[in-house]
Amino acid sequence: MSTAVSSGSPDHRAAKTSPGYVWLVGAGPGDPGLLTLKAARALRDCDALVYDYLASPAVLALASPQCEKIYVGKKAGAHTLSQDEITELIVRLGSAGRRVVRLKGGDVFVFARGGEEAAALHAAGVPFEIVLGITSALAAPAYAGIPLTHRDYNTSFTVATGHEDPSKGYSSLDFAKLANPAQTLILLMAMGNLAAIVNRLRDNGLPGELPVAIVREATKPAQETIVATLATIVAEVERTQFAAPAVVVIGNVVREREAIRWFDAAPLFGKRVLVTRPERESDDLTSRLWEAGAQPVPAPTIAIAPPDDAGPAGDAVRRLDSYAWVVFTSPNGVAACFRILEEQGGDARRFGRTRVAAIGRATAQSLRTHGIVADYVPGRFIAEQLGSGLLERTDDGETILLFGAQEMRRTLGSILRERGRIVESVAAYKTTAVASPDLADLAETCDVWTFASGSAVRSFVANVPGAADLAQDKTIACFGPVTAAALREAGLAADVVAEEAGAGGLIAALTASPPRMDAAV
Ligand code: SAH
Repeated sequence: MSTAVSSGSPDHRAAKTSPGYVWLVGAGPGDPGLLTLKAARALRDCDALVYDYLASPAVLALASPQCEKIYVGKKAGAHTLSQDEITELIVRLGSAGRRVVRLKGGDVFVFARGGEEAAALHAAGVPFEIVLGITSALAAPAYAGIPLTHRDYNTSFTVATGHEDPSKGYSSLDFAKLANPAQTLILLMAMGNLAAIVNRLRDNGLPGELPVAIVREATKPAQETIVATLATIVAEVERTQFAAPAVVVIGNVVREREAIRWFDAAPLFGKRVLVTRPERESDDLTSRLWEAGAQPVPAPTIAIAPPDDAGPAGDAVRRLDSYAWVVFTSPNGVAACFRILEEQGGDARRFGRTRVAAIGRATAQSLRTHGIVADYVPGRFIAEQLGSGLLERTDDGETILLFGAQEMRRTLGSILRERGRIVESVAAYKTTAVASPDLADLAETCDVWTFASGSAVRSFVANVPGAADLAQDKTIACFGPVTAAALREAGLAADVVAEEAGAGGLIAALTASPPRMDAAV
């Protein structure tokens, strides 16, 4: 019989052991940033992914498109596989030589039946590994600003299930022990039986004025928290129609929330943010929005495609070392350049003594990932400043390559040509307008719209009838003055203009002037 425990990497083990391999993975409570590096690696490597309703789409997206994704439900009432059927499915996939991730919300071993699945895999001789996750028992209080221990209040905390109905007389929970004011009590799955649980805790001596918090959809943009006391919490749940999934926190530590509350107090918390950038470029913005507590809504309005004629870009890359300067006007240009270099069998050494300029920090960062440190990055990302910076650094008659979009603005080239520089403007890629059929609906549901380029703006207004009316109660945020001008031309006004390119600049600008909405409660 084989077991999972041996040394070496999972890959190594999987290669040596037959049949397949199963990772029992805790996905954390929702915020994709709380996923462990190990979990991300397992998701990338698996060819079958078995998940239930607590899994967040951003986490599922880490699996490869070829990976078979199997939904097994588990939401109360919905059509789902039973636990036995799930266990059987994992064993069957593993026995068939598949590399399986069984993804669970929170942690694998906290009220998640991971122990049973592991035992079944062991019995079937399928090697497995436990990739623990952050349990909602810890995450929900943390994201509500409630420390589980605090030296002023408690010396322990207890995590219990509220799933057992204490009024039915068969609860194995020891309420005499749980009703200890010097410990923080954390209850999962307790919403259905809350009234009965509260009664038993009070019967066993917990005071009615003891603070209680309930956190639902913890770590997600939809996170909500109510705070009351043992005496009032049931009525409060009733009044607010507070629903699962939620974690109940009982104890004096709840008092700290007022001062420590952070996640749901952030300016972008809970806001839906439309991301119109092309899919490939929007990664950084999307993850930073998550971190800020916002809900990114991907809706690319442009896509990046090869230029109509790829010849000039190929020629230019072949002669990179013949220019005085090469200027990259976007990370896409950098990506295209290095793709062409690779196709030609070359590498960064092709630049020789040629100096390199990047229009902004994001472009400079792309260059850095290819081992090139830009010689010049202007402070503000507008053509005028880049132009004057380049004029200072070059002489009359020197040749400058502008490597960028096919529809590149002419401003920079003209500034340089007027002063005697020889300019070669080469199309490295082109942007094409795209739009999903539900773009207008998505835009309507968002609080903030973001635009990274004029072409994204133009494609957006072409695909969203009545965009200007729809924009009345939206915050519009964009990168740089050129995109802001494109918005104006399209009849939309930018509320927030990021001075600095890149996702960080946009988030900073947005948080400095938060969306026009009532602050989240
Ligand atoms: N293994 C999971 C728990 C699964 S039991 C973990 O470690 O978190 C399901 C219960 O977990 C829910 O009823 C709820 O009490 C809690 N839960 C899971 N995710 C949650 C979230 N994002 N916010 C609040 N509660 C959550």
